[in-house]
Amino acid sequence: MKTIIIGSGLGGLLSAAKLSKAGYEVEIFERLPIIGGRFTNIPYQGFQLSTGALHMIPHGPEGPLSQLLKEVGADVEIIRRKPVSVIRIPRNKKDIDYKFGHKDIIFEDFKIPFSLLNRLKLIYYIATTRKNPPTGQSFEEWCRKHIPQDWTYRISDAFFGWALSLKGADVPVEEAFAIIENLYHFGGPGVPMGGCKGVTDALVDIITSNGGTIHTSTEVTGLKLDNDKVTAVIVDGVEHEADLIISDIGHPLTAKLIGTETNVSGMDEYVHKSKDLKPSAGIKICLSSDKPLIGHGGVLLTPYAKRVNGICEVTNVDPSLAPAGKHLTMSHQCVHWSDLDNLDREIELGLEDLRDIFAGKEYEVLLIQSYSNDWPVNRSPSGADLKNRTPMSNLFVVGDGAKGKGGIEVEGIALGVKNCMQNILM
Ligand code: FAD
Repeated sequence: MKTIIIGSGLGGLLSAAKLSKAGYEVEIFERLPIIGGRFTNIPYQGFQLSTGALHMIPHGPEGPLSQLLKEVGADVEIIRRKPVSVIRIPRNKKDIDYKFGHKDIIFEDFKIPFSLLNRLKLIYYIATTRKNPPTGQSFEEWCRKHIPQDWTYRISDAFFGWALSLKGADVPVEEAFAIIENLYHFGGPGVPMGGCKGVTDALVDIITSNGGTIHTSTEVTGLKLDNDKVTAVIVDGVEHEADLIISDIGHPLTAKLIGTETNVSGMDEYVHKSKDLKPSAGIKICLSSDKPLIGHGGVLLTPYAKRVNGICEVTNVDPSLAPAGKHLTMSHQCVHWSDLDNLDREIELGLEDLRDIFAGKEYEVLLIQSYSNDWPVNRSPSGADLKNRTPMSNLFVVGDGAKGKGGIEVEGIALGVKNCMQNILM
């Protein structure tokens, strides 16, 4: 069966690997001159920076992405090193920032800063909510009702800011609890050897060895429709016929490609729902240093920073991501939709945070990248994802616009691709 895939991001490549392995004839069209979308490396002054992700796989070697990579035979080594996650708190209990020093606690000790009463409540809620997860509100609303304390909101914003580029107030409680459940089940993050490109290169190898082709600098500008079917994609005015189309460009852009000419059932609702999706935005600051700044290969959450949610230093796991003797450290901060017009100010606040967090340490800012709109952190804010289907019976959407429930970032993409493939490869 002839399949065309629009976009060579992780969602497109995973789908192509899975389908080509199942014997489908696969052709990928990618608008950019590079493969991998927001999940590949940018070589810069000897460092392997990235087009998007922070070279981290949210559930490391145990998670849905790792499982899917193994399933298609992709040769990727994902290393999870202890401590997996660390939280930086002020040295003195009464401080509200890092100006007067800090101490680091392992993630499992996140309960320590809670009051005794809230710690007891937490034990109760951990036991009861796994069976009956709460619904119908944001995670922050739930926290305000059940565990009201400054620490609750700080740790929730740091965690969801890092993991989803959202504030706790913008994460539906159902999604938050599904994510927490997955954390228990699959464990914390890991670093793929070779960074993001280590993953996407391995997938390209699988696709091409299965006979698939990938065209770069080739934008799909339209679709040819016949009732509820897409019969061809249009590239440079030329029609390329296919039986099955997978779109890795999110629902809103896919809806645009379908256009308004069709009167296929469900199209109006699809366009309406796609328009409602607000991509999550963020800022990544890449630092170079001679000595390690955080000194481990996990995530450092920074709930007392003004903007920075978390930091990783991937060279503690894969030194090849920096020139010999150097370290690559990257911070991430969520940019709330209301701050999108003030990116310069948000960047300045992020840089101020890093000066406080790394007070007394020497580093150089390599690159500052901001992500929003059509090149966001997440095309669909987690918990608001539309599923893989579209009103066209042979057109499916994958990628971070169609993540599976409870899947953080690329784990959500892997879950979404799995769901999609269940529809196709029944
Ligand atoms: P994309 O990577 O966007 O791929 C879509 C591709 O389609 C693009 O290459 C695009 O050029 C192409 N395209 C678009 N339109 C067309 C067209 N008309 N024709 C042909 N091609 C087209 N995730 C993690 O798991 N861990 C992290 O540490 C992490 N950190 C992140 C930090 C930042 C700052 C950002 C921005 C993201 C981060 N993510 C992280 C998220 C992760 O990078 C994305 O979820 C993932 O890369 C998205 O993959 P995708 O396939 O959905 O989309």
